[in-house]
Amino acid sequence: MRKKIVAGNWKMNKTLQEGVALATELKDILAAEKPNCEVIIGTPFIHLATLSNLLKDSVIAVSAENCANKASGAYTGEVSAAMVKSTGAEYVILGHSERREYYHETPEILKEKVDLALENGLKVIFCIGESLEQREKGEQEAVCKAELEGSVFHLTPEQWKNIVIAYEPIWAIGTGKTATAEQAEEIHAFIRKCVADVYGAEMAEDTSILYGGSCKASNAPELFSKPDIDGGLIGGASLKAPDFKGIIDAWK
Ligand code: PEP
Repeated sequence: MRKKIVAGNWKMNKTLQEGVALATELKDILAAEKPNCEVIIGTPFIHLATLSNLLKDSVIAVSAENCANKASGAYTGEVSAAMVKSTGAEYVILGHSERREYYHETPEILKEKVDLALENGLKVIFCIGESLEQREKGEQEAVCKAELEGSVFHLTPEQWKNIVIAYEPIWAIGTGKTATAEQAEEIHAFIRKCVADVYGAEMAEDTSILYGGSCKASNAPELFSKPDIDGGLIGGASLKAPDFKGIIDAWK
């Protein structure tokens, strides 16, 4: 049975003190009322060690939002997968469209990052998704398939068990424009078929595929009710504990 997941992506938000306050609030809320899904928070590097320690006996797992495509050495300002792992973080988000666009992360670079993350014992939330222009041309399936082929379909079946896919249509990220539950389900089912073609039906059934893009408490129940949508990757609505909890509650 695949996991149901709600994962936050704080992006470049929250000072260390603000991050500790938000994680503490969330920890207390979820201690009082156990979630029906796995809960992950993706945070900037500076929060990882503190929050991994703060959340170690809680139901919340910690994720980085990036890691380097090099193992170690003279790469000023970079943070390696081994360093992320040493903080106690369990996950890393890779392939986010903001990193692809603003930091020019190519499929080849992402493949290196995925390999290093897995070699160092991290689980990967791998993001894929088309732009508005690509959607208008009907290219969403081809784009998603190419992104999978470019960076993760070389993995062994054993490695694949540590991959979570996040489908995030770029036109829906931070825009308030959500894909309809039907639009999202259609592409999630296609992504699962792509996974089945490479890893077989059983592994595809066990793969969690999250939806991301202006997901909030009001639309999460409909999105999560679809058979191939296994939860969400949440940006804006993960920055306030009640908003994030509202999405977690969609699994009730
Ligand atoms: C994201 O950036 O991963 C995301 C889904 O953002 P938002 O929820 O704000 O659209």
